[in-house]
Amino acid sequence: MVNVEFERGKKVIPGGVNSPVRAFRSVGGDPILMARGEGAHLIDVHANAYIDYVMAWGPHLLGHSHPEIVKAAAATLERGQIFGAATVDEIEFAKEIVRLVPTIEKVRLVNSGTEAAMSAVRVARAFTKRAKLVKFSGCYHGHADGFLIDAGSGALSLGVPSSPGVPAEIAALTLNAEYNDMASVAELFAAHGRDIAAVIVEPVAGNMGCVLPQGGFLSGLRDITRQHGALLIFDEVITGFRLGPGGAQQYFGIKPDLTCLGKILGGGFPIGAYGGRADIMALVAPEGPVYQAGTLAGGCLVVAAGLAMLKLIGEPGLYEKLEARTNRLVEGLAEGAAAAGVPVTINHIASMLTVFFTAGPVFNHADARRCDVRRFATFFHAMLAGGVYLPPSAFECWFVSAAHTDAVLDRTIAAAGEAFRAVAEAHGD
Ligand SMILES: *Cc1c(COP(=O)(O)O)cnc(C)c1O
Repeated sequence: MVNVEFERGKKVIPGGVNSPVRAFRSVGGDPILMARGEGAHLIDVHANAYIDYVMAWGPHLLGHSHPEIVKAAAATLERGQIFGAATVDEIEFAKEIVRLVPTIEKVRLVNSGTEAAMSAVRVARAFTKRAKLVKFSGCYHGHADGFLIDAGSGALSLGVPSSPGVPAEIAALTLNAEYNDMASVAELFAAHGRDIAAVIVEPVAGNMGCVLPQGGFLSGLRDITRQHGALLIFDEVITGFRLGPGGAQQYFGIKPDLTCLGKILGGGFPIGAYGGRADIMALVAPEGPVYQAGTLAGGCLVVAAGLAMLKLIGEPGLYEKLEARTNRLVEGLAEGAAAAGVPVTINHIASMLTVFFTAGPVFNHADARRCDVRRFATFFHAMLAGGVYLPPSAFECWFVSAAHTDAVLDRTIAAAGEAFRAVAEAHGD
């Protein structure tokens, strides 16, 4: 069936989408054009409702169109969109971020997670007067040149480990280590220790699917960077305000030097932020010489929405509730897979999870790549037919929001039971 609207889109937008993974390339078929978001649901242009686990790829911790966030944004628009001048609200917002995130003493707002990560690396290079960067295979830090080296997320789904257009000279400054493998990090430091400015890591990986740091990995990174005079950057664009109000650094009790934020922070509007130790952030212009700027950064609309979000996450018991619901979903999915005889590994923490179609375990990029993408594609389309919208890639996180009630989860589990049976039938388990 040809999707006429989407065909029109492909004529004027590369691949018909404004971010590659939205295009369904790794699961087949055409994407569905969505028209509304309401709580746990997305509603398409033909008024079909889907239970949504993409949640705009992270921002909607509290569900789509949360009334308090919409109200705060709408009220602000009465005063204007952006002034290009300092405001009281952005100062309040920064104070909230500093209060909530344990190691952030000073913070700068930008417009995306990509900007946050590339700016944090620039500051780290200036602070250490070194050029090289260590990242992990399968981790994603946005689409800046220096990160598109064996990157995860869309790049992984499309099977292009790095992108044309990234000069070899820039790629040469990025060193890849294996997630959860301190020996691979130690090897890089042994060879390049005096040139390494920073290690950047997703403290829980979310862009090769959900992969948890194993015991000693994050503390190992903290120790080895300290020993070699390099900085540790936590990319908490997903984990920030998701693992708890203080993100992964609070959850695991590890102190990075710099932190990147985004997604949840903006309440669904474009945002990123980077911050950390005051002595390092003092290098950022105009306090210091490291140039970084943004015409649209910290505008009143996104700041109002973000302030409303940070207030709402203070609700007592919110994170316990999100975790309990995620556990309920994971148990139901595991039972459905077992009943159909389909081998899966379900990684989860707080309100993020991934069902990997492999017997597992999944501790790194190579493990994740062992999952059967054909089985995932069958599962994805069976879920869609059952009214559940999953991320259209085997290597993404599913996000559970506060709007995913027990009734919504039970409907999901019922659809998954059938979808796992469809996988078993189609792929001969
Ligand atoms: C989404 C993401 C980014 C990039 O954020 P954008 O707002 O899409 O530029 C960076 N790091 C991580 C860990 C992410 O998940």
